[in-house]
Amino acid sequence: MHRRIQWPDGKSFAFTIFDDPDHQGSGSVEPVYSLLSELGFRTTVSVWPLRGSGRPRIGGVTCEDPAYRAWILDLQRKGFEVALHNATYHTSSRQETHDGLERFKTLFGHYPHSMANHTGCRESIYWGRDRLSGAHRWIYDLLHPRQSPDEFEGHIEHSPLFWGDLCREKVRYVRNFTFSEINTLKACPMMPYHDPDRPFVQSWFAGTEGPCVTTFTDMLREENQDRLAAEGGASIVYTHFSQGFVEQNRVQPEFERLMRRLSRLNGWFVPAHTLLDFLATKRQGQSLAVADRSRVERRWLLQKMFKTRGRS
Ligand SMILES: [Zn+2]
Repeated sequence: MHRRIQWPDGKSFAFTIFDDPDHQGSGSVEPVYSLLSELGFRTTVSVWPLRGSGRPRIGGVTCEDPAYRAWILDLQRKGFEVALHNATYHTSSRQETHDGLERFKTLFGHYPHSMANHTGCRESIYWGRDRLSGAHRWIYDLLHPRQSPDEFEGHIEHSPLFWGDLCREKVRYVRNFTFSEINTLKACPMMPYHDPDRPFVQSWFAGTEGPCVTTFTDMLREENQDRLAAEGGASIVYTHFSQGFVEQNRVQPEFERLMRRLSRLNGWFVPAHTLLDFLATKRQGQSLAVADRSRVERRWLLQKMFKTRGRS
């Protein structure tokens, strides 16, 4: 059911972005953040605290690069949220994940408020088919015939990759399903929610798909911006700013045009965890009804079956 939210400061809707560091180099997306900062957006930038030691499926710059680290700390000072994208860009043991969390805390002064699992990390928590329940899991298996059932083990207590207890203790929000719908709250009205069947995650949140600049700008086209505002909704766009948002050290023009337009609407432009904290105060209970979870799982599976674009 669609909830109408009274946003703080007389704002009429909420919009934020969760940026995934895949393929980023040091300095490679700085023009995007200069623009966001200038326009008054305070979004979420996720990082890898540790440099990897093996070959990743998808890698990128980590907090062990001094120039990148200084830049991320500067973003944090400006009011951006720094979030976690696993300890590093490839599979980490329990000890490595522990070290990554501690390194994050040393760098940023607190454990991560929010995180998203990274592609190819087998310690990802409740990932792959484990995102789904009951019959939905079997449909997922039919769509992903090559993945073995135990590919993701962060929540499996006997696995050397287990870190569920650390996740539950230290991380408030973990990203789960993403949708093409701009109004994330419409696609997942119960977020942030606790799922009793996935006890090592305190609270889950959903995202809106905008994985590269073309999908992002299509999702953020004028009519969608106006509908998000009219519905009084909330959008948490999941993206990779390395994917076409910067061309020859300049922000891609269509992205800039649409973000400038959005900045002039009466939106609440705060980081993902601030938005989720606020939504949590509007909750009746933190726990999830099975029917609600089924509806969201079904919506996500249907989208997966009929749309192929985007990584989610
Ligand atoms: Zn990633």
